[in-house]
Amino acid sequence: MDSFSESYAEARGKFLAACTEVGARVTSYPRDGLSGEAGEPLATDVACLGPEASARAAIVICGTHGSEAFSASAILTRWLQSRDGNAQGVRLVLVHAINPWAFSHRTRTDENNVDINRNFLAADVGPASENPAYDAVVHLLHADPSNAAGALELHRTYRAYFEAHGWALEGEIWQGQWHRPEGLMYGGQAPSWSNVTFRRILREHLSRATTIGFLDWHTGIGQFGEIVHLIFDAPEGMEHRAAAGWWGLAAKEDGAFKTGAKPKYRGLLCQAIRQERPDARIAGGVIEFGTADDYQIFRGDLIDRWLRFEGRDHPDARALRDAHVDICCPRDISWRRLVETRGPTLMDQLLAGVAEW
Ligand SMILES: [Zn+2]
Repeated sequence: MDSFSESYAEARGKFLAACTEVGARVTSYPRDGLSGEAGEPLATDVACLGPEASARAAIVICGTHGSEAFSASAILTRWLQSRDGNAQGVRLVLVHAINPWAFSHRTRTDENNVDINRNFLAADVGPASENPAYDAVVHLLHADPSNAAGALELHRTYRAYFEAHGWALEGEIWQGQWHRPEGLMYGGQAPSWSNVTFRRILREHLSRATTIGFLDWHTGIGQFGEIVHLIFDAPEGMEHRAAAGWWGLAAKEDGAFKTGAKPKYRGLLCQAIRQERPDARIAGGVIEFGTADDYQIFRGDLIDRWLRFEGRDHPDARALRDAHVDICCPRDISWRRLVETRGPTLMDQLLAGVAEW
């Protein structure tokens, strides 16, 4: 059966059926008060496998960015179907759709336009009050991208700006911003539902583990079909070495950005694991499947934001929404086959790594 789905509801159905098939213990966290694109109920579903009392655990997250969840959901479902739930002696926690509203509505951010992956600031770090790099190009980022030729021109201007000022400055945009609620990578002013729920999941399902490996699935960074590992720990530290070893990475292989360095992202979801479990040994990272070239990624991000605010009633709104999703999850059969085969293998490597660390 094809593990890819056309909607959140279909993806959820496939995931829950696969969980039943292998006897996974499922806990659902309903998203009360909101419904999906087709009026369906929304929830984050958490499946647990392997020995409950194990001190070694792995957590795999799908749907931090809603429109990237189609691939992540397919990987989790395919892993369950092909591995019969064998978690190699490790306690495995699968988090399906941590941002279910965004998955169903096929958009990156939550119902308040909060980018979940900028919402997990540590308790002692407040939201930044400004982001001058963002402001310098806001007229491009918030422009109308509905016309392809116009969007190409916007991208040319955007590129020219950073060619002139240095790509490191673009990294400051990607760090997140907290002063434009209608903007891209908006981190929000308070913990979002996904934030509160993810912390609850960590407390309810990972409290016994003292060694934790994590993997948060994303798409978009990298060339078409390229697998990009983002490990956020210092390269010389044991956590970085551990995760890089699990996935067989050379020392410098992770985080290949055109800027030459990873942006100093703030408020990432995976940072919550350490915030909640400061006593545990924790390693892991984000894994991205590359989907498209820079221009398409740029236009896709702009379309997603613009449709949420200015372009809601545009006659091509539906087609533009589809275009955004296709950039996050290409229909190309060889790309999908790569995700379905390499994704579960990368999960196996995480489990084997945690078992031996
Ligand atoms: Zn993402």
